[in-house]
Amino acid sequence: MKDVGILGGGISGLFMGRFLGEGSEVLERDSTPGGLSRTFGGNGFKSDIGGHILFSKDKEALAHSLHVLGKNVRTARRANRILYNGVHVKYPFENGIDQLAPEERVEILCDFIENPHKEKPTQFKEWMFHVFGDALTNKYMLPYNEKIWKTPSEDMSLEWVERVPRPPLRDLVKTAIGISTEGYTHQLYFQYPEKGGFEAFPRAIADGVGQRLFTNCDVQKLKQVDGGWAVITRDGSERRYKQLVSTLPINTLFDALGDVPAEVQAAADALRFNSLRVVLVGIKGETLPEYTALYVPSPEVLAHRLCFNHVFSPDLVPAGHQSISCEITVRPGSDLDQWSDDQLITRKVDDLVKVGLLKKEQVVHTQVHREKYAYVVYDRGYAQRVKVVRDYIEGRGLHIAGRFAEYQYVNTDACVRRALELSKQLRGSIAPESRLPEGALS
Ligand SMILES: Cc1cc2nc3c(=O)[nH]c(=O)nc-3n(C[C@H](O)[C@H](O)[C@H](O)COP(=O)(O)OP(=O)(O)OC[C@H]3O[C@@H](n4cnc5c(N)ncnc54)[C@H](O)[C@@H]3O)c2cc1C
Repeated sequence: MKDVGILGGGISGLFMGRFLGEGSEVLERDSTPGGLSRTFGGNGFKSDIGGHILFSKDKEALAHSLHVLGKNVRTARRANRILYNGVHVKYPFENGIDQLAPEERVEILCDFIENPHKEKPTQFKEWMFHVFGDALTNKYMLPYNEKIWKTPSEDMSLEWVERVPRPPLRDLVKTAIGISTEGYTHQLYFQYPEKGGFEAFPRAIADGVGQRLFTNCDVQKLKQVDGGWAVITRDGSERRYKQLVSTLPINTLFDALGDVPAEVQAAADALRFNSLRVVLVGIKGETLPEYTALYVPSPEVLAHRLCFNHVFSPDLVPAGHQSISCEITVRPGSDLDQWSDDQLITRKVDDLVKVGLLKKEQVVHTQVHREKYAYVVYDRGYAQRVKVVRDYIEGRGLHIAGRFAEYQYVNTDACVRRALELSKQLRGSIAPESRLPEGALS
């Protein structure tokens, strides 16, 4: 019996395997590891599953990520824009208001300063008005957020809002009078793999896990056995471990356990998530703007964000070509969920032509990627349901790590942090070969 079985080989599972070292194994369903951090493509065009970059306020987590990437890394400066009434406004919106008409700047500033929404917010819509004032909320925050979350903002809770930075008044005033400012400065500069798309990152972590990573290993059933757990995969084989760490989505874990009490299962079933479609559109020529991403709050355009892949790395496009990855969130069971790839492609190419980014005759490659579990949605019952589910999992003696295992809106840096902490808890310290070299944190 091995010490620790790690279910799922995304960033969380791979870093768990790397930090735990010998005695641990990672079991991944698909033929390639990486989960949400993989890269797809064809005809020389590559796209991530929505724009992915490396940045973090957590220096240690970021240092581990950059350490595994080694030399295959490039640093770039964020160049995002927001498509607002036909203008490509600098991102975040509050740092781009100098591009708006003077009357609009005054409206935004006055609404921010004289904000009447003083009461402590109880849900996300109230929070936006409370923090940003009427004009910033109505012009950008509200339409963009309702578009990405596919949920009325009054039905969303507040557990996740610390992710959204608050604009300092001084920045707003400066921008309004035309002095350039930057917001979200923790991600102004970011790292990205030079070659291989974002997937080069999980592949590099997987190199450190080596023979202890098993792909095409679809976990179907978990059984408690003497002194540990039996893991049965789709091909019928069984592996035994003293301890298990699940990075699988909660419902996948519960299906494998099979004997979850009805009230716990009901709490898990009621947890909300959004799926994602990424429509990759490759074009001939180098006519696209040098933006990393264009955010699109308008409901008239299907995607909420367009990523310009050549700006992430020239390796993502063939010579003389460029591409756009269009991100579309989908509420499971909605009409949009039924759209075929052809429908999505036709609509997206039309959208891109309509907003003036390309000409139809330039398009040489189109492709759709579908991801079921993409975004955790924090609706009003979230905290209570997650507690029921986590308490149950803990009570069964299982450990969880990762975006849909812990059910949190987290980036890869938080996955690294969780893997670090859980590995120390299980082993006392991380495996010597996975430690950072001296000076990596300075
Ligand atoms: C659009 C978008 C943009 C993002 N942008 C960024 C960004 O810029 N920077 C950043 O740091 N993060 C970003 N993220 C977040 C990042 O992708 C995730 O936090 C991270 O990849 C989650 O890793 P994970 O291992 O926790 O989960 P996952 O990647 O979901 O991994 C779970 C793994 O379990 C496997 N699995 C599922 N079922 C089974 C089974 N039955 N048996 C075995 N294996 C199974 C899956 O195949 C998968 O490999 C973004 C996410 C999205 C959706």
